[in-house]
Amino acid sequence: MFLKNTNRNRAVVVGGGIAGKLAARVLSEFFKEVILIEKDKKNDQVTNRKGVPQGNQGHVLLKSGEEIIEELFPGIFQELSRNGASKTDFARDLLWSHHGTQKIRFDSNVFISQQSRPLLEWQIQQRLEKIPNINFRFDSKVQNLKFKTDEVNFIVIEDKNGTIMELLADLVIDASGAAALHNQWLMDSGYKVPAKTEIKVDLFYASMVFKKLSHATIDWHSLLAYPNPPEFERGGMISPIEENRTLVTLIGYATKEAPKNIDSFMEYAETLEQPEFYEVIKNELPLSEDVQVYRFPALRRYHFEKIRNSPSGLLVIGDAFCRVDPVFAQGMSLAAMEAKVLRELLMRGLNKKQLTKSYHKKVSRILDIPWLIALTEDFRFRTTSGRKPIGLPILQWYVKKVVAACSHNEHVYKRFIQVLHLKSHPISLAHPGILAKVLKTTK
Ligand SMILES: Cc1cc2nc3c(=O)[nH]c(=O)nc-3n(C[C@H](O)[C@H](O)[C@H](O)COP(=O)(O)OP(=O)(O)OC[C@H]3O[C@@H](n4cnc5c(N)ncnc54)[C@H](O)[C@@H]3O)c2cc1C
Repeated sequence: MFLKNTNRNRAVVVGGGIAGKLAARVLSEFFKEVILIEKDKKNDQVTNRKGVPQGNQGHVLLKSGEEIIEELFPGIFQELSRNGASKTDFARDLLWSHHGTQKIRFDSNVFISQQSRPLLEWQIQQRLEKIPNINFRFDSKVQNLKFKTDEVNFIVIEDKNGTIMELLADLVIDASGAAALHNQWLMDSGYKVPAKTEIKVDLFYASMVFKKLSHATIDWHSLLAYPNPPEFERGGMISPIEENRTLVTLIGYATKEAPKNIDSFMEYAETLEQPEFYEVIKNELPLSEDVQVYRFPALRRYHFEKIRNSPSGLLVIGDAFCRVDPVFAQGMSLAAMEAKVLRELLMRGLNKKQLTKSYHKKVSRILDIPWLIALTEDFRFRTTSGRKPIGLPILQWYVKKVVAACSHNEHVYKRFIQVLHLKSHPISLAHPGILAKVLKTTK
C-alpha cells in the first residue's frame, strides 16, 4: 500500500538494529523504495554482531514492544517460539526480589516471549527480507548526510571496498544507536544540534551463557535480583534463551569494576542480596569461556522537540534519540512505539516538514514516561548525577510502597506490571483503588 499524495520515492534507514529494522518495515508501506544501510556484515545465523555490542547481555522484550512487533509482522512470535523462545507468565514464572521484598507469584496471564536479543533481531530480519521494496546494504558505513534548501538530500556511504558513494534520499531515519550520527551530520552542515540531557550512572552488565539450569529448588523460569539501593548496588538476572540455554547477567551501579572471568563472576554473584542467585549457578559450568562485559556510563536523551528550525526529512529513532537505563528493559519497546508513531504520521499524509516536527514532538512525549521511571530509581544510587526530576523524594517514597505492596497484593502487582511494560501510565498507580491498598502496606 503506497499513499498517493506525495513524492515518496526513497527512504533511507541508517543502522539495522531493532529500531532500524522496525522503521524499514513501516516505511515500506509508504515509499517506493527503502534502503537499509548497516555497517556490519549480514548475519546468516543467530549470532551477536559487532555493531550491537550490548546484544549478548540479557534482553527482555516488554509487552508494549511485543504487541507492536506482532502487529508489524503477524505470526512472528510463533516463529520465535518454533526457534526456541519460551513463553512465560510474567508474575508466575519470574522470581523477583525488588527493594528487599519478593514479588507475589500468581497466574497473571501476562505472557512474555523470552529469547536472546540476536534471535529476535534475526527473526525480524527474515521477515524484512520478504518485503520486495526493502533493499539492504550491509558492510556499508554511513559517513555523512547532505542537505539542500533545509531538506535532506543525499547520504554519503563507504562500502566494504572503501568506495564512497552518494544516494539520493527523500527521507532519512537515523537508527544508528549509541553512535547518534545525527549530531555530527547537523553540526557539519551548520545546523543547531538538539540539547542533550545526560544522567551518569556508571552501570555495567556482565553476562555468561550456561546450559539450562537444573538446580532442584528451581520452580521459576527467570530470576530477577534488582539492587536494593543505596546499600546494595549489585543485581542480576537469570533468564532462559533458545537452545536450552540460560543467560546469567550480573549488573552493578556506581562502579567500573566488572567481573572479568568465571571466578570473579561467581564471587560477584555470591555477594548479591538474594542467596538463590548464587545457589543455582554455583555448581554449573558456563558454555561460554568469556565474561561479556558492557559498560553503560550514562542515560542520554536528545531534545529534538525543542529545536525550532531543524531541516526536514531527518527523523531519529531508538537509542540514537534516547538511551534509557537498560535495567528497565525499555529500549526495544520504545523503538517499537516510535515506529508506530512514524506509521501513524505517515498515514496522515503530512508533508516532510510537518512530519519531522510532529514525529519528534510525539516521540519526546512518549519518552517522558520511561525517562521518569528510570530516573526515579536511578537517583537512589549513591553516585548518580544529573538533573533530578521534580518531586523526586515523594515519587521514590511512593514507588517503594508500591513495590512493597506487590509482595502480597495481586491487584497492585498487576497494575505495576502494566506500568512496567509501558502499557499504562504511571499515574494509574495512584488511582484510588490502588492508592488505598498501597498506603495500607506497612513496610
Ligand atoms: C546492556 C544492555 C542491556 C539492555 N537490555 C535491554 C532489555 O532487556 N530490553 C530492551 O528492550 N532493551 C534493552 N537494551 C536496550 C536495547 O539494546 C536498545 O534500546 C535497542 O537495541 C535499540 O536499538 P537501536 O536499533 O536503536 O540501536 P542498536 O541496536 O545499537 O543498533 C544500531 C545499529 O546502527 C549501526 N550503525 C552504527 N553506525 C553506523 C554507520 N555509521 N553506518 C551504518 N550503520 C551504523 C550499528 O552497527 C547497529 O546495527 C539494553 C541495552 C544495553 C546496553
